[in-house]
This record gives sequence, structure tokens and C-alpha cells, in this order.
Amino acid sequence: MTRKFNFSAGPAAIPLEVLEKAQAELLDYSDAGMSVMEMSHRGSHFIDIAERAEADFRELLQVPDDYAVLFVQGGATQQFAAVPLNLAADGDVADYVTTGSWGKKAVKEGKIFCDAETVASSEADRFSHIPELTPATFRTGAKYVHITSNETIGGIEFQGVPETGGIPVVSDMSSSILSRRIDVTDYGVIYAGAQKNIGPSGLTIVIVRRDLLGNARSGTPSMLNWNVQAEAGSMSNTPPTFGWYVAGLTFAWLKELGGVDAMEAINARKAALLYDLIDGSDFYANPVQPAFRSRMNVPFTLADPELDKVFLAESAAAGLAALKGHRSVGGMRASIYNAVSEQAVAALAEFMREFERTHA
Ligand SMILES: *Cc1c(COP(=O)(O)O)cnc(C)c1O
Repeated sequence: MTRKFNFSAGPAAIPLEVLEKAQAELLDYSDAGMSVMEMSHRGSHFIDIAERAEADFRELLQVPDDYAVLFVQGGATQQFAAVPLNLAADGDVADYVTTGSWGKKAVKEGKIFCDAETVASSEADRFSHIPELTPATFRTGAKYVHITSNETIGGIEFQGVPETGGIPVVSDMSSSILSRRIDVTDYGVIYAGAQKNIGPSGLTIVIVRRDLLGNARSGTPSMLNWNVQAEAGSMSNTPPTFGWYVAGLTFAWLKELGGVDAMEAINARKAALLYDLIDGSDFYANPVQPAFRSRMNVPFTLADPELDKVFLAESAAAGLAALKGHRSVGGMRASIYNAVSEQAVAALAEFMREFERTHA
């Protein structure tokens, strides 16, 4: 077996220890005589898996009791609709900060349901920074302010939380959750698709401050109603059981490794290794202002785009997978989520140095 160093943007790398544990338990989970995929979500084995995963997740992010944690389906994209359905009535004002492609999709979906507007954007500057935000940025009566903590395609990341003057902040953390310490109480709602930093696709985690529950507009499908999901313990229908289980394995792995603070230090080192290399060379470039660069997704271009194909072919041959940049940005992108080891990033850095030496 040869496992590659996987820099995929998502679905993305999962820790080897997690995969091995899932493999070892695949045919017979804890003497149940069946796999997790085959058992009832209401049986004692799965209830135990589900409760342990939630408890570990809460511990890792220090989620207070006045926040509900939901394990649902539909991806982050479904939450683009769930957010206005649960927080805004028809015609209500909802403000969006747009710092990249995912934020643009979020506000577009919001507009289907309410008076959703982009009130701050760095698009004119090709999303190379996070705009300056003060309480005056936001419209009076806004029900929420939506941000994308980390823009997975552009590689740009909030380094803090905007001051909104009390308007609840809703954050799409799909590609940065658990990668660094955050204070959950700074947010009204946090949501994240699992396939970047948590586990397999098909699972979405939503953290909602409980006082924001129970306001879904009439007509909201029950599956999208956070209050329905919270009251049912995310089991109003069959939850994504295998994804929930693997997420739990990832949380246990992360705790074992020292938790979010330890992970944050590792992630800072990984990102610095690549950005220092890029900034120290005339051959590679990253368009994002240094203060706003993502620690999870590092896009970079080559001085000569003619070499892109060569770079991709040679890196793939060296066991470095999925470095092709998003079509909207071009060039390369290294996604270096929690599960991507320092060893993998060091191997990429070594390859990049050698490629520059032989092709510049
Ligand atoms: C991947 C991603 C999404 C889309 O997630 P789906 O689970 O495919 O809906 C949304 N937002 C961000 C920031 C992402 O990285």
C-alpha cells in the first residue's frame, strides 16, 4: 500500500490513525456483530457513538451549554438556505461579508428568502484582503451578519470576529473548523461541512446559540429547521451515521494530539513553511495580503503558467496529490487541513524548491 500526500481541497485527507481504527472496527463494531453502517441509529451502540462524538467536539471547541450542536446532512450549501429560514422572515434584512466564492454563493441563496445583501466585499481587489468592518458597516435591523471564516478557493481567512454591535454573527467554518482556537460565544451560529477538517462528506455540523432557535419562518421544511433537529437530538430522521462515527474518531484523534491549541501550533508551522518559501522566491507567488492568508488553503501561481502542467505531472509522480488550483484562480492550491501532516507539507516544500531549481 502506498498512500499519497493528499492536498485535496475536499473531500480531503483523513488522519491515517482514524482510517485504521475505522478499518479495524468495520466488520464488527465493539462486539455488535455488525458494522456501524448496518446498525440502528437508535440502538445503544450508536447512541453511545453519537453522544461521545458530541461531548468530545464540545470539549475541543469549548462549546457552552447554551449552544446546541447538530449533526445533519445536506452540506454547508444546505445551510446557506437554513440560515435565512431559521433567522429571518420574508423581507427581513440580513447582511453578508463577501470575501470569496463561498460567501458569494451564501448571499445568493440568502436572497431567495430575505433582504440579503453584501454590505462589505473585497471582490474589487480580487479578494486579496478582508474588508475593514465596524458596527457602522451593517444595516439597522439586520437579523444576522454572515461571514465565511476561511475562503477555501481564494485562501483568505478571518483572523478574528467582526464587531457587529450585537447582531449575531453566522460563520461558515467548513474549511477552518477545529484548525485554531475560537471563542464560540463570539458567534450566533457556526456551521461546517465535514469533508475538510472533520471526516467524510455527508455530515454537516451546526452550532447554534439556543436563544436563536425556535424562530424559523412558517414554511420551513422540518429537515432545515434547527429547532426540530435540536429537539430530536439530530435524529428527527436517520442521521449520517457513518460520518458521525468517523467524525467522532477524528475528535478522539485530535484530543489525543493535544486538542485545538496543539493543532493550531502545528497548522501555523505548516502554513509558515509554504508562505515563507513562496515569499522568498520570484518563481512562486500568492496573491493574498499576508495578514489575511489562510492557514488551511495555500493557493500559489508559478511565474510561467506554461509550467503548470509540468508542475502537476511531476508533483503527482512524486506522490503529492491534488495540487491543481481551483479553475477560478488557476495555478496551484495546497490544502493543508488538520489531517495533512507536517511531513507531507515538508515533502511539498522540498518538491517546490527542487522544481524551482530545475525549471526557473
Ligand atoms: C466546501 C465548502 C462549502 C460547500 O460545502 P458542501 O458540503 O459541498 O455544501 C461551503 N463553504 C465553504 C467555506 C467550503 O469550504
